[in-house]
Amino acid sequence: MTRTAIVTGAARGIGAATAKRLAADGFAVAVLDLDAAACADTVAAIEAAGGRAIAVGANVADGAAVASAVEKIVAELGAPTVLVNNAGIIRDNLLFKMTEDDWDAVLTVHLRGAFLMTKAVQTHMVDAGWGRIVNLSSTSALGNRGQANYAAAKAGMQGFTKTLAIELGRYGVTANAIAPGFIQTDMTRATAERIGVSFEDFVAAASKEIPVGRGGTPEDIAGAVSYFVSEDAGFVSGQVLYVAGGPRA
Ligand code: NAP
Repeated sequence: MTRTAIVTGAARGIGAATAKRLAADGFAVAVLDLDAAACADTVAAIEAAGGRAIAVGANVADGAAVASAVEKIVAELGAPTVLVNNAGIIRDNLLFKMTEDDWDAVLTVHLRGAFLMTKAVQTHMVDAGWGRIVNLSSTSALGNRGQANYAAAKAGMQGFTKTLAIELGRYGVTANAIAPGFIQTDMTRATAERIGVSFEDFVAAASKEIPVGRGGTPEDIAGAVSYFVSEDAGFVSGQVLYVAGGPRA
């Protein structure tokens, strides 16, 4: 039986690597992002490797869009029993300069988005008596200068995850969070641009602070997701795994 997985924010970065990895693990994958057209490369890469995927356009923070996206996925791939809440944005600024919009935008995509997606998908997991939820947190949950909004959202993801684990465990559903450290994606590239340093210098500086001596890759995170959604991880729930090349980065 082929299981269906949904990966949000999967047009690029960590989400794209995760979608490819789950397809290689044997899941049919819904590659979901704001714009379906932006998912074409991820879907093509999965199909070229012999996997099954569809592109789905939806804003995870919009309840009606989430409902129709999940309906489309059920119809085209089958009921989803794996959900990776990965879609995310940053709007960094020091607290005194952070606008209400910066605060609301970040909390809305990460927390409201994960809430709406999980609520829409859990019913299929409960019906199947099996499910896996993986939420993307961050080392920023421990506090990070210029990221009051993002740190609050990513700490919130951890409390959300632990509550899902408690509520859904009896239905065979696990929920875990992954807290990446510094990962080389468009998101960290944008941060380098904002502070006016080249991405190469930014990566080199970050790598000096990371015990394993390098920046992380999207594949490093995809490997951790692959474990959490596996059969082997059925007794692991409500955990936060820091994937940061050390205790934190
Ligand atoms: P990324 O390269 O910026 O990719 C994020 C994707 O999410 C983009 O394709 C983006 O679409 C999509 N997205 C944004 N808002 C959305 C919405 N409302 N609905 C649907 N899709 C939406 O980011 P990344 O670096 O891969 O990060 C992925 C996740 O890991 C995020 O949750 C991030 O906070 C977390 N994380 C990243 C790092 C890191 O160092 N990179 C570290 C810790 C945690 P658009 O391009 O159209 O905006």
